[in-house]
Amino acid sequence: MSPEEFRTEGKKIIDWIADYYENIEKYPVLSQVKPGEIKSSLPETPPERSESLDEIMQDIDEKIMPGITHWQSPNFFAYFNSNTSFPSILGDLVSSGLGVQGMIWATSPAATELETRVLDWLAEMTGMPESFKSTSTGGGVIQDTASTAALTAIIAARERVTNFKSNEKGISGNLVAYISTQTHSSLEKGIKIAGIGKANLRLIDVDEKFAMRPELLEKQIKEDKKNGLIPFFVCATVGSTSTTAIDPVREIGEISQKENCWYHIDAAALGTAMVCPEFRHYIQGIELADSYSFNPHKWMFTNFDCNVFWVANRQELINTFSILPEYLRNKATESGEVFDYRDWHIQLGRRFRALKLWFVIRHYGVEGLQYHIREHVRIAKELKNWVKESPDFELVVEPHMNLICFRHKNGDDFNMKLMNSINESGKIFFTHTKLNNKIVLRINIGQTNLKEKHVKEAWMLIVKTAAKMATI
Ligand code: PLP
Repeated sequence: MSPEEFRTEGKKIIDWIADYYENIEKYPVLSQVKPGEIKSSLPETPPERSESLDEIMQDIDEKIMPGITHWQSPNFFAYFNSNTSFPSILGDLVSSGLGVQGMIWATSPAATELETRVLDWLAEMTGMPESFKSTSTGGGVIQDTASTAALTAIIAARERVTNFKSNEKGISGNLVAYISTQTHSSLEKGIKIAGIGKANLRLIDVDEKFAMRPELLEKQIKEDKKNGLIPFFVCATVGSTSTTAIDPVREIGEISQKENCWYHIDAAALGTAMVCPEFRHYIQGIELADSYSFNPHKWMFTNFDCNVFWVANRQELINTFSILPEYLRNKATESGEVFDYRDWHIQLGRRFRALKLWFVIRHYGVEGLQYHIREHVRIAKELKNWVKESPDFELVVEPHMNLICFRHKNGDDFNMKLMNSINESGKIFFTHTKLNNKIVLRINIGQTNLKEKHVKEAWMLIVKTAAKMATI
């Protein structure tokens, strides 16, 4: 494809994306296809001869679009949003256009230095302590790619050859990690991958707000030490997946520090909200953390994938991951004056993801981001009030920010049927969780283009469908 053809075809595809967003509410939010339907519509063999972009785009419209769940629809309320925005899409396009692989500083200094600058901006914007900035002892890095896939494959192979038993005990014997019963499953997965073993993972119980109980953490650590085990890692969550519960960051941090444990804070979903100073009380005590992360790909209008991860002491990270084969030796690395981000994570190769984040922050400005976060929180409060006023529904837990957890009073089966039938209608998409052994419905309010009317209409649909179901 020549640059001239790219120019012509590219403009058509930009138009296609703009049209998609203009019409996004006409699609059923949750894809309605059956398993295998998309695959069977595609040829079993690749084309021998070149096909035109018009033909490819026709297949996008006819064969791919029916299998799309429209995450960017303002009627998408499921899981946590994985939102995007036009500036983010354009930043990602520039990244694709440049095709930079920024594994080390020398392979594209701008990819490294823009990332360092943007992560320092974000640390400042979200009220993080100085120690997390690159200008101090720490620093941030954007995470993730194919090495994770390879690692996952290696672990899966190990599990298969050991009949899925090697993780029952773990290979590190007496190291113990602590999370809560509400911590995201990725932590348990990480513990398995790292070979610590599920047997050495403690799930600390939570209080009535689903936040970790620090006194139980302390008790468990003491008991483990008495039994000759070595506590080494504690994770607190700021915004749990089920309910956006917020663990007591400072108290857990003080215990972690006293017990010499690495203290990680997972703020995947809610970290973005810290751009608003009024929400920073949720992360008070963050200066006790060794590492902290959140997902701009959830609530900061930046398309997947984009996780930001900071450490207070970058040398610990670099000592863990640094490896320097001859073929990557270069003057800049040897000078010690540059960051080589391949030493800050699992994989070697890395995309230029800082660009999309840079586009987003510059497009919205801090004030624009604050506006949207506050607006989502305001609308969530409205929904909370509607739930509270309803005679048929109950609010399950007082919301912290933009996730509303509720249930119909008619019990689990009714709630599941209600949710499934609404989702099947394609009008909105929302999901559930289980708390205290009861089904709970969740509405997450974080989509880029969402307005109050979308939430109002969603709530009316839920109420009306429930009323109809109750009479049958
Ligand atoms: N932590 C929390 C609290 C989450 O809610 C999620 C996902 O929803 C994750 C971690 C995992 O996020 P990712 O998809 O970026 O791995």
